Order: sequence, then C-alpha cells, then structure tokens
Amino acid sequence: MTRVIFLGPPGAGKGTQAKTLADHWQVPHISTGDILRSAIKEQTPLGVKAKSFVDSGQLVPSELVQDMVEERLQKADTHSGWILDGFPRTVEQAAFLDNLLKKTNLGGAMVINLDVPDGVVIGRLLERGRRDDTEEVIRRRLEIYRSETTPLIDYYGDRKQLVVINGNQSPDSVTSNLKDLVVSC
Ligand code: AMP
Repeated sequence: MTRVIFLGPPGAGKGTQAKTLADHWQVPHISTGDILRSAIKEQTPLGVKAKSFVDSGQLVPSELVQDMVEERLQKADTHSGWILDGFPRTVEQAAFLDNLLKKTNLGGAMVINLDVPDGVVIGRLLERGRRDDTEEVIRRRLEIYRSETTPLIDYYGDRKQLVVINGNQSPDSVTSNLKDLVVSC
C-alpha cells in the first residue's frame, strides 16, 4: 500500500515527482489542481464555482475540494494506494483527510515536504507559464502557501508522518531520493 502526500510551495516540483512516482508504483496520481482545471475547462458545476478562485490564486472553498477528494478516493483504482498532490492545503483539510483515512483502517499516509527556496520557485513558475502563473498571482499563491499550508509541516511532523526532501536539485536526483526513501519505509 503506497499512500503518499506531497507538500511544498507551488513550483517545488510536486506535480512532476508525483507523476513519475505514480507511474513507477502503479498507483493513481491525484492532483486537486488538475481535477479543478479540467472541471473549469469542461464548465461542470464544480468548475464554474471554482474558476474565480483558481484564476486569482486563492484557495477554492474547502467543502468543494473535500467532496471532490472523498469521491476520488472511493474509486476502485485507489485500492493499492495513491499519491496526493495539492491536497491537503490547510489544517482543516488535513483533519478531514485523517478522518476519511481512519474509516478505512489502513493507517496514515507518508507526507513528503519538497523543500525549495522562494527565489527558486518564483523563477520556475514564471518559466512554466500556466494561466495562473502571472507574477501577481504567483505572489498571492506563495503568501497563501505560507499562511495556510506551512502549518501542515508541524501538523504532520507532530504525528511523525513527515519527511523533508531537498527539492532544489535536478528532477532525477529528487526522484531517486524519493524512491530510496519510500522503499526503505
Ligand atoms: P495546483 O495545481 O496544486 O497549484 O493548484 C492550482 C489551484 O487550484 C490553486 O491555486 C487553488 O486555487 C486550487 N486548489 C488546488 N488544490 C486545492 C486545495 N486542496 N484547496 C483549495 N484550493 C485548491
């Protein structure tokens, strides 16, 4: 059972690493940002509600994202595990996920904090050029990360679920650090 949660600022490389490891371990890569972007593109009721938040770099209201994650984690392809990328992003969401996992009696997930300095992530995001990667929106996403998401480092640290990986290396080096780590657990 591989259950991994990625923390780290926007631009830390969570999506790239989560995708590579999900292929390697044959478990689904569940990115709340990807699910929201495709809902927005398809103009589903969720997408219509989420659009202004995603476009401006704010967090989508937790009830919407929590319902979406609960539904996704009930699908059959999650039986051998999953990699969560972009969720949880607040202590409220982390508590929700804890409750959800408790119901399955399978224990908690391993939480990886991909640590990358701010100066490096800003440069990476500007190069990536997604529609929510303008300088103003990037600044807001980093502020929200700092205020809402960094408390999760202590939250999971206190629960002995946290591992910190240096994300300021080549993508291949980060991947090999991650493979070593998860194999040894
Ligand atoms: P990401 O692809 O993870 O950078 O997410 C892109 C955007 O989707 C974020 O800036 C938020 O607007 C929204 N989003 C993704 N995950 C969450 C979440 N767990 N809670 C609230 N909003 C989210």
